[in-house]
Order: sequence, then structure tokens, then C-alpha cells
Amino acid sequence: MRIDLHADTDCSDGTDSPAALVANAKAADLDVLAITDHDTAQGWSAAEAAAAQAGITLVQGMEISCRHAGSGVHLLAYLLDPSHPVMAAELEKVLDAREGRVPAVLERLRALGVDIGIDDVRRAAGATAAMGRPHVADALVTLGVVADREEAFARFLGPRAPGYVHRYAADLLAMIATVRAAGGVPVLAHPWAARHNHRALDECGLAELQGAGLCGVEVDHYDHDTEAREALRAIARSLGLVVTGSSDYHGAGKPGIELGCNTTDPDEYERLIELAGSGHHRPVL
Ligand code: AMP
Ligand code: ZN
Ligand code: FE
Repeated sequence: MRIDLHADTDCSDGTDSPAALVANAKAADLDVLAITDHDTAQGWSAAEAAAAQAGITLVQGMEISCRHAGSGVHLLAYLLDPSHPVMAAELEKVLDAREGRVPAVLERLRALGVDIGIDDVRRAAGATAAMGRPHVADALVTLGVVADREEAFARFLGPRAPGYVHRYAADLLAMIATVRAAGGVPVLAHPWAARHNHRALDECGLAELQGAGLCGVEVDHYDHDTEAREALRAIARSLGLVVTGSSDYHGAGKPGIELGCNTTDPDEYERLIELAGSGHHRPVL
């Protein structure tokens, strides 16, 4: 069984439509795929329909923008009810902050002599509810200012670059509890990735998150080297957290990262599914 539990569509900052993502998952010989757009369930229904047709299991998920100990962290949430009132209110706040940040970023860029408009970004963002820096980056590529997203982040949009603007993200501890209240399973995304604050997410930090309801940790991820994976896996095992592995595929948004390049052990997947609430959000075969 090949299981990939982290992939984005063009409903956030990936480039495949939900149907194309499912088709590509089928072509990559996956049996189980989770759709995990940033902060939105917008792509679920189209992905569900495509998965039913392709005969693969779809896990409804999302990757929620959170903050913890002063740093941004991403929380994967599986099989949650996005209409749970606290969850829905919090997602709306995050999405509003995404929208609100873009004009401020464009203001910074203008001060740097780069003149792009909100319509350029909207065009790059398509119909997404979760507009973000990657769409600003795509607009910069279209206008020929940079060659790719990577260069856009390095020169303009990354946290140490001059076009960076802070945005609101959900409090991690509170969001873990909210995901549980919404019947979902919270799993920390790539906690030791280069851009995160590792010190707050050591064994002690992860134990604290587990106390708040965290169920698992994404261990096998392109942004973790072999040493990090082994250390993180050992911590997860000793705490009893579910261990996942996933691609974090974004289509052309992350060149070279293919569906199924990292996968989740079937036993760990079973554990994860069993932790979901008994609501109507079950993986769709
Ligand atoms: P935002 O959601 O607007 O805060 O943008 C963050 C997203 O941009 C992340 O989830 C990544 O998918 C993407 N990203 C972050 N850093 C880079 C980078 N250096 N190059 C390309 N994409 C990046
Ligand atoms: Zn993304
Ligand atoms: Fe992420």
C-alpha cells in the first residue's frame, strides 16, 4: 500500500487542480492520498469525486497556518469537520489575514522599485481562497522580475527579505484542541524543516503539544535529512505519536517533489484513521 498524506492543489499554492492531483496520484501508483491545501477545504469535493472514479482512497485534510513560540508552524489536520463553528471562525480569520497581507507586500515591493498590482496577483492565484506569497511569486515570474518562486522568496518574500510582511496565524496549542473538537486528527507538518524553530519542537516541546492533543508528526519529508528523520522518529516512537511520511507535493510549485517520494507506513495510517472522530468525515474510497 502506497500512502501519501500531504499534497496541495491550485485551491492553495499547488498547481494541479484537485482532479489533476488525484489523476497524478493514481499515475504515481498511490492507494491513499490526502489533499492538504493551506487553510481551506475548498478542493475536497472535486477531489472526492475524482478519487471515487479513480478508485483510490482520499483523505480529506488541510494544512493550517499556526504560530508557536514566536515562529510559524504548519499543522496538518485530517478528517476534520471544517464547518465546526470554532474551526470555521478560525479559518476565516487566517484566510482574511492572507488577503490582507498581499497589498502590504505589494506596497513594500513598490518601495523597492518593483511595480506589480493586486490584479497581477489575483490572476496568478486563480480561484483560491488561500492567497499567499507563492502567488505574489508567480506574478513576479510572469512579469519577468524573477525566474522562479525560489528566487522570489530569496530576493523579496522570505522572512529575511525586504518585501516580507508578517501575517496572523492561529495559536498552535489552541488549534490542536480545535482540530480535535472538530473530530479531526492533528499531525505536526515537517517540524524540523529548515525554516522552523527547532528548539521549541524538541522532545519536551512535542510532549507539550501531545498533551494538548497532538496525535502525530510528519517525519519523512524532503526538508528533513536522514539524521533528523531518525532522531524525530525515535522521539515520536517514545512518545507514542503517529509517524507519517509524505511528499508535500505542489505540482510545478515545488519542482522536483513528486507524489509518493515519501510515504506513510500502512500501520501508522491505520492508527491515524482510528483517531478520527466518528462524524461523517471518513476517508472516501
Ligand atoms: P504564505 O502561505 O503566504 O505564508 O507562503 C508560505 C508558502 O510559501 C509555504 O507554505 C511554501 O509552500 C511556500 N514557500 C516558502 N518558502 C519558499 C521558498 N523559499 N521558495 C518557494 N516557496 C516557498
Ligand atoms: Zn503549500
Ligand atoms: Fe507546509
